[in-house]
Amino acid sequence: MHDNFEVVIGLEVHVQLTTKTKIFCGCSTAFGSSPNSQTCPVCLGLPGALPVLNRQVVENAIKAGLATNCQIAPRSIFARKNYFYPDLPKGYQISQFELPICEHGWLMIETDDGEKKIGITRIHMEEDAGKLLHGETAEAANSSFADLNRACTPLLEIVSEPDMRSADEAIAYLKKLHQIVVYLGVCDGNLEEGSFRCDANVSIRPWGQEEFGTRAELKNINSFRFIKQAIEYEVERQAELVEDGGKVIQETRLFDSQTGMTRSMRGKEEAHDYRYFPDPDLVPLVVDSDWIERCKGLLPELPEAKRQRFVEELGMPERDADILVAEKSVADYFDACVALHDDNKTCANWVTGELSRKLNEENIAIGDCPVTPELLVGILKRIGDNTISGKIAKQVFDEMWQSGKDADTIIDEKGLKQVTDTGAIEQLVDEVIAANPGQVAEYKGGKDKLIGFFVGQVMQKSKGKANPGMVNQLLKKKLSE
Ligand code: ADP
Ligand code: MG
Ligand code: ZN
Repeated sequence: MHDNFEVVIGLEVHVQLTTKTKIFCGCSTAFGSSPNSQTCPVCLGLPGALPVLNRQVVENAIKAGLATNCQIAPRSIFARKNYFYPDLPKGYQISQFELPICEHGWLMIETDDGEKKIGITRIHMEEDAGKLLHGETAEAANSSFADLNRACTPLLEIVSEPDMRSADEAIAYLKKLHQIVVYLGVCDGNLEEGSFRCDANVSIRPWGQEEFGTRAELKNINSFRFIKQAIEYEVERQAELVEDGGKVIQETRLFDSQTGMTRSMRGKEEAHDYRYFPDPDLVPLVVDSDWIERCKGLLPELPEAKRQRFVEELGMPERDADILVAEKSVADYFDACVALHDDNKTCANWVTGELSRKLNEENIAIGDCPVTPELLVGILKRIGDNTISGKIAKQVFDEMWQSGKDADTIIDEKGLKQVTDTGAIEQLVDEVIAANPGQVAEYKGGKDKLIGFFVGQVMQKSKGKANPGMVNQLLKKKLSE
């Protein structure tokens, strides 16, 4: 149905920064402490208290700007965004308005029709509000409480141009942005806990029309899947509305993950409703080129560059590189492995194969993996020097996962060392040939495929410990005698 319309999407993303302290005071940003234990006169908004800008927040904003191809403003201004809400004790939020720290950036995304550039309008710094608790405890059944621990927590707001034309493009952009802020280490990337929150602005217009339609803003949706669902629902809703002769109104809508629908929350404020004005408590922020250069020096290797290095320097297939780079923690683990072991192909196979399988099975993040890169490489080295076969290696790996012992200890204790003694293998080969005269005759009659059967039998007899290459060779030799 919505084939009659072109979809237009612009995204506002709030990224909660990982700084230890808040943006305008020294209070801790640690999560989960008892209500209001991390507050002071500044973040409580007491009269006369003055904000002092956290330098680390500015550096994180500069890093995010550099990584998204933005221009960093030599001078930017903090502004007051005025509105009343019980979790906002000052009656205004300190944000940036006319002169944000970063502007004119872009990110490249992959679409079905190839690469596409998505513009980033601006990135600005701001403080978060507190949190209201509604009847969350028994004694507070009919009351609301304000917890101001989160008040004054530093955020970056990253605003895109209305450049996306489908829910899939929006998700591709979000995932890319998410990957970058996590790689930079400026955000922990946890969507569920609200460290990375997205408002999606969605409108439609008849094909060929230049002017944008009226947008609805979908608020704070906390998973990529829900964002896609919410956008798709909203597009359908608007299309049906317009086709029935109705008009989309500018409003803020909430997504209900139970029903998969969006519903109206409130009419959308315009910027002038907030009476923005420069905050007289904070001097203009001046960022000189030295500071920007220093921040450039602090940038880690970003996903794009890492992918290229894996492909070009390690000769890795692009598909493998994509898998390894997707999550920073996986890429870091892999990098730690190749630093200890030259055979990067085997490292890649194990990280994307056996290790990922086990992590999935046990539902454990790679950062908490009991098998460290050092331990894993211990196994890979023993495959490399033919002490164990790839198959036995999996057994060693499982044992290592349980016990935390290193590869050599496990191989010793369990007697898993590969048999490479020609005499011993020859004996097993002879036994298998003697025990299967029928198959031997068939093989000699031209049924080459049976070699697999013989290898299997010998391997079984050796409990997996015979060197498969040697078994193969000896069998072929003996069977052609
Ligand atoms: P506000 O805070 O009022 O939502 P912002 O300028 O911060 O305003 O964000 C507006 C967002 O909406 C941007 O991401 C922009 O790309 C997007 N946008 C603006 N107009 C449209 C439209 N007609 N359709 C879809 N998205 C739009
Ligand atoms: Mg908005
Ligand atoms: Zn404080």
